[in-house]
Amino acid sequence: VLVAELLDLTLTSRDKGKDAAVPMCGVPHHAARGYVAKLTELGHKVVLCEQVEDPRQAKGLVKREVVRIVTPGIVLDDEVLDPKSARYVAAIVEDGGEATRFGLAHLDVTTGEFRVTGLPSLDAVVAELSRAEPREVVLEDGAETLANALRDRYRAAYTHAPVPDEATAGEALSAALGDGPDELGLCAAMTRAAAGAAAYAKRTQPAGTLPLSRLQVYRPDEAVVLDEAAIVNLELSRTFIEGRREGSLLSAIDATCTAPGGRALRRWLHYPLTDVAPIRRRQDAIEYLVDRELARGQVRQLLKRIHDLERIAGRVALRAATPRDLAKLRASLGRLPALKQALEGGGGEAMPVDIPPLLRLDPEALSQLSEVRAELEAALSDEPPSAVKEGGVIRDGHCPVVDENRQLADGGRGALQDIEARERERTGIASLKVKYNRVFGYYIEVTKSQLSRVPDEYVRKQTIATGERYITDELAGLEAKIVAAQETLAEREAELFRELAGRVAARLEALKEAAEAVASVDVCAGLAEVAALGRYVRPRVDEGETIAIEEGRHPVVERAVPEGSFVPNDCRMDPSDDQLLLITGPNMAGKSTFMRQVAHIVLLAQMGAFVPARAAHIGLVDRIFTRVGAADNLARGESTFMVEMRETSAILAGATRRSLVILDEVGRGTSTFDGVSIAWAVSEYLHDAIGARTLFATHYHELCALSQFRPRVRNLSVAVRENDGEIVFLRRVIAGGSSRSYGIDVARLAGLPRSVVARAKQILGQLESGQAFGESSQLSLFSAARGKAAGDAGDEADGARARAGEALAERLEAIDPDQTTPMEALRLLAELKALSEA
Ligand code: ADP
Ligand code: MG
Repeated sequence: VLVAELLDLTLTSRDKGKDAAVPMCGVPHHAARGYVAKLTELGHKVVLCEQVEDPRQAKGLVKREVVRIVTPGIVLDDEVLDPKSARYVAAIVEDGGEATRFGLAHLDVTTGEFRVTGLPSLDAVVAELSRAEPREVVLEDGAETLANALRDRYRAAYTHAPVPDEATAGEALSAALGDGPDELGLCAAMTRAAAGAAAYAKRTQPAGTLPLSRLQVYRPDEAVVLDEAAIVNLELSRTFIEGRREGSLLSAIDATCTAPGGRALRRWLHYPLTDVAPIRRRQDAIEYLVDRELARGQVRQLLKRIHDLERIAGRVALRAATPRDLAKLRASLGRLPALKQALEGGGGEAMPVDIPPLLRLDPEALSQLSEVRAELEAALSDEPPSAVKEGGVIRDGHCPVVDENRQLADGGRGALQDIEARERERTGIASLKVKYNRVFGYYIEVTKSQLSRVPDEYVRKQTIATGERYITDELAGLEAKIVAAQETLAEREAELFRELAGRVAARLEALKEAAEAVASVDVCAGLAEVAALGRYVRPRVDEGETIAIEEGRHPVVERAVPEGSFVPNDCRMDPSDDQLLLITGPNMAGKSTFMRQVAHIVLLAQMGAFVPARAAHIGLVDRIFTRVGAADNLARGESTFMVEMRETSAILAGATRRSLVILDEVGRGTSTFDGVSIAWAVSEYLHDAIGARTLFATHYHELCALSQFRPRVRNLSVAVRENDGEIVFLRRVIAGGSSRSYGIDVARLAGLPRSVVARAKQILGQLESGQAFGESSQLSLFSAARGKAAGDAGDEADGARARAGEALAERLEAIDPDQTTPMEALRLLAELKALSEA
């Protein structure tokens, strides 16, 4: 009933009309693939059942079994899978443990990638889910509270499934991986999560073996910690507004040629490194290819002709590989020697002294794979079909049984044509036809008008509207031979194919190793290509605390603006000196772009890539936090301001001196004074208590005053030129804060009517001079108090209200809440009210 609705199919029923009618709907089996895909993409599971015995030999009901379950997280179909994203199913187990309350495992069944980590909090779980983006999340039966908490914060298909207890889970892992929880260093929650993911996946593949060989145990802080907000705001793999890949950082740096390379690049980007050594190893590999243009070209040309080895290997293990998969494997393996040669300087450049480790293909794996290739070459036909039962899988000359029966079957078909021709001639019935059906095999069909010419030896089998059908001894004998040959052929081909796939499966480790090596070569070659074409440089990465970028550019915006029009900017940050950079300037000046470009350059540097700048020195960052104001999150039913404040408090709780904090217009979602106050206090806290390198863009130019009170705050602004009252954006970041916010100028640029702009200017003038204006008593109170605090006695407007404000501020300052009793507080309140009404 549900499927009929989802797929827009006609709902019929078995035993129609009867009381116990069973509702059903269907699609032709050869078209099932697309429908299955649609259902799983909608978040459902599809169970595939097939007949598992020969229907001709079965007694009674033909036996059927579940052959595979397709779920949102477990899909093997290349037509459905995004080649450049992993398809993870995640399992989460909550446990009483202190440091690791949650175990989280990710499993990509298509490639066998299998990772597990332990996490302290729900926030950390959400962050990790946002990073890996599993399509399906498996939770323990009964974990309803956790399910509800997660559903609100991470969108995926949620499934409840039994998760084995710790002992059983440990045994299962030992059996699958060779190592148990102790060797792997897993706590209970991690053990159960990993085993839970594997058990769930295994149930979907009753016939195959999961391509698991290694469980990668990691801590989230081994990589730069990126929370959900950072991933979203920095548009790492998707744009903020429309969620498209185009326009993201990933798409700007993705020049990979293979699907595994694309997936690996995504991993590199989402898990930037925090150790210098592996970062330098990646840089070495990229630099090697940047310097060798010819080799790089050859390498990328070869990579384009290498298929998705990881997923083919996965399907081989799962017994889901098709003959065509193996043909692709054969072709791809054939290119590995040339790839190795190209990497080693086959490009004609001087022979390298030493090839960077990341670009080395292991000769041992390659030699094993060349055996696989030879076997495939010998056994598999040149262009095998996508399904074994279509036939023509095994090459002529490989197996005498196949050859002989193929000839018999083909020869038989030829003989049938001969018979038809001969009988037409002999009987003079030109329309005589030899045909086939499943009920009585080959027969001769004669139309009504010709029945008088039918010879005696024809045996009548069936009368149809247009004529009669006959069989002959000759036909029956031939048919028996053809059928027998076809059957033997099909059986033998299937058997040989299974053997062949089995032999490939036996070398799965070598295959996966080579696939991984090819993926990393691809990532390096792609990043080298981007670096070479985009004039990126190798950053100096070290354990210092300085970030110094010379002529940095925004990798995405620089491509979006007309060629040559992007204005590069320098940036220097240091926790002991230029710690908090406060960037002011009108809307559209380029503040956000500047800050994001710094974050992108840091991210690129720590993933080991080159960066868009003239030079860069990056002292390692442990976490990147971003908060971009004015983003609506109404879809989640939370007010913008609430989200903004929650994210800001997450930053203050999580940032360290090593972190990079980016605050864009924080405090915007509330009134001006609230906003300025919060921004001010947050900045002080980042300065005094945390010391993190911070970029803070704001249109509150009032914040510039902070630099007078705090030594490590620097004011920057994005330059504009005023030209006859028009503002021109220069896009250059300069020292010093801006004196006003230019909001009205931007409003005019945006086409607000002249009269409205003029009136706004008039009102602004009044507000700035502290004049009473409508309901602005609160405002003048504030400006009076502020004028006093900043030692600025010259607030021109000396109106009564301003004086009252000053008195009020003075009185307030004298109050010490710690020394005030409740009774006094009430009295004070009355006094203050009287003062303000004066
Ligand atoms: P703000 O945050 O100050 O409002 P943005 O950073 O959003 O401004 O920049 C607005 C637009 O200005 C960008 O979309 C881009 O088109 C352009 N821009 C920003 N920085 C630069 C730059 N350095 N060079 C050229 N154009 C830029
Ligand atoms: Mg902005």
